[in-house]
Amino acid sequence: MVLPRWVWDYIKSVMEGGSYADVRGWFRDAVAPRHLARPTVSEITSPCPTKRDVYLRRVSKVAMPDNDALQMGRLIHEVFLTPFRIEPVFSKLDEYFESIINSYGELAIKYKGSLYELYRHAVAFALQAREENIPYSVEPLIPASSIGLSDFIKPDILLGFIPIEVVSSIQPSDDVSNIGRKELAVAAYALAIETWIGHPVDIGVVLHISLNSIVKLTWRVVRIDDTLRRAVLDARDNVARIVETGEDPGLPQSCPRTCPFYGVCHA
Ligand code: SF4
Repeated sequence: MVLPRWVWDYIKSVMEGGSYADVRGWFRDAVAPRHLARPTVSEITSPCPTKRDVYLRRVSKVAMPDNDALQMGRLIHEVFLTPFRIEPVFSKLDEYFESIINSYGELAIKYKGSLYELYRHAVAFALQAREENIPYSVEPLIPASSIGLSDFIKPDILLGFIPIEVVSSIQPSDDVSNIGRKELAVAAYALAIETWIGHPVDIGVVLHISLNSIVKLTWRVVRIDDTLRRAVLDARDNVARIVETGEDPGLPQSCPRTCPFYGVCHA
């Protein structure tokens, strides 16, 4: 079923009274971009409070250094999404898992036990979804240029018309801000789907995965209201303005130590 039963029940109770929004993807005046530069979803939802990371990459052309936090994020995504991508043949499941672990080396071996537990959760969700014939796609390409974002954007999973975004933290202190950033991401996907096919999208889901001591999955149902929709458009315009004007937005009061540019900004 992709989502646990209680999440479906919660969605139904949230949507009982229906939903209304002034800002819909199909209202051209509401979503029209104010700048020519078209940011990606990961740029508008990056952990950098001032978006200096975008300035460094797109204006100063500084290559983004890789670090453990980024690799861990990619690894957790791959472990969780793989069972949804493949035909889950029981005799091959461990083989798929081992090949992911081998491709990430030491970092994956360090967390192998927790990652396997996460993989088993994902296999169970994927099998249930198939058995119940619930339509979903993994990282589908959704055109987004008409709402001023990059040519295509892709939620981790699109379940019917519900975008699901997966986020992970290796520092417990990052949990809340990571979930908040991803609420913006699901709202961006909702606007893009609306402008693409004219179907309203009022709910998204953020799945937060924590591998600290135990594997913890936290499901956040996101009601995509006007406040969140406007926040996406403001974030889009802010990032596009930085790229277009080439102005350095400066450093925030504090920076996450996991930021890949930490060594650049705090050299
Ligand atoms: S180190 Fe700070 S200012 Fe620099 S990109 Fe990261 S969060 Fe932004």
